[in-house]
Amino acid sequence: MSVIPEPAMTTSLPVLSAAQSQAVDRAIEALWPKALDLLKKMVGTNSVNPLFPGISRGDVIGGETQVSGMLGDFLAGSGLAIHPVAPDPDRVNRVALLKGAGGGRSLLINGHVDTVAAFKPESWSTCSPWNPEVRDGRLYGLGSTDMKSGLVSAALAAAALVAAGIRLKGELQIHAVVGEETMSHELGTTAVLEAGFTAEGGIVVEPTSQPVPLTVSPVGAGNFNLHIDIQGYATHGGNRGPSIRAGGPGMAAGVNAVEKAILIVQALQQLEQEWGTSKVHPAFPAGFFSLCPSVLHGDAGVPSVGYLADRATIGYLVWYPPGNSAEQIRNEIEAQVHRAAQMDPWLREHPPVLRWDSNWPVSDTDPAHPLVRSLVAERTAVLGAMPGGAADTAGFNACCDSAFIEQKGIPCVIFGPGDLRFAHSMNEFVNLSEVTDAARILARAAARWCGVA
Ligand SMILES: [Zn+2]
Repeated sequence: MSVIPEPAMTTSLPVLSAAQSQAVDRAIEALWPKALDLLKKMVGTNSVNPLFPGISRGDVIGGETQVSGMLGDFLAGSGLAIHPVAPDPDRVNRVALLKGAGGGRSLLINGHVDTVAAFKPESWSTCSPWNPEVRDGRLYGLGSTDMKSGLVSAALAAAALVAAGIRLKGELQIHAVVGEETMSHELGTTAVLEAGFTAEGGIVVEPTSQPVPLTVSPVGAGNFNLHIDIQGYATHGGNRGPSIRAGGPGMAAGVNAVEKAILIVQALQQLEQEWGTSKVHPAFPAGFFSLCPSVLHGDAGVPSVGYLADRATIGYLVWYPPGNSAEQIRNEIEAQVHRAAQMDPWLREHPPVLRWDSNWPVSDTDPAHPLVRSLVAERTAVLGAMPGGAADTAGFNACCDSAFIEQKGIPCVIFGPGDLRFAHSMNEFVNLSEVTDAARILARAAARWCGVA
């Protein structure tokens, strides 16, 4: 997608006075026990995405609704108006509105309430992914980093502005959405926007931890989920030698689909090497854009080694940079698979079939956009300059709902507590100091962007 241009509006941006900033910080401190309690309750509620691979809807349905409800209750307590949006009545998004005094720009802060499926739930040090535990300044539990803590930071920021008596000019919205982990944005983020809850700027509070915690990230990678099906010719395992040795009958004795799949993996590794130099972006670390063969299945239809496999499937996660179209990426991969197939007598006749399951678009807001600058200014005010002279923005090393907010023409930044390295992993945790730091920055940035009455 293209870079969203800077708006024409360039009036001088009001900033909180020192006394107002102190009032916000004091309010965050006073509200923190209640916010921590909220975060524990949210993490303690199983809200695994009901469409996540391997999950049965009946086991988890309703969790997302409970979590968005908890956040809504907290914000209703600060006087925000709560609106449910639910294309699927069992998966309720909630929007909290803090009306502005008028004359300022509006801002929406978005976070998802669903989580991935728990990785090895029996092996967590907390005994369960849904047993929130605070240890050494960290809160452990599934969804702590990705991204219930981000939502709590946003709620804390809004509640603190109210408690500090700071009236924004523009409206502040908090969107607690379902379905992000399976890109079901039409049930979550996009549904909320299409219900009329839009704004002039957006912040998605996903964990932005690269290169340091709470990095402002105006761009995010795009990705593809791709499966490649490869056909073989199943025969008795005793045909292995004749099928591959010189002078034997070759393909007539059988073809092992598993090894044909490996040829394709090798060809795509070659393309990935090329991408190391051909796919670069200043906001991302060298070599980030890649083709990961994450899943490989192959057999003869029975789970036995006594056959040559007649089917194999490779599942890929493909990361590509802003500035490349999805079509361009698809063409490059298809051409490379085609080239590899042409080199092999069997695959030439039985070409691999590519299934493009999903495409997550890139996020691409201009780092110079005033919304981005608002966040950078307030991050610097609260935490100081980026260490080691690092750039004041960096890419988000994943994809998120900011892409779908941008698709509605809303400039969007990714910024939130937590560490992406521990998202989707066993013993996921968030550093609690990041949750309050994020709240301090979000409250200030909202004041800067929306204006203060
Ligand atoms: Zn997330």
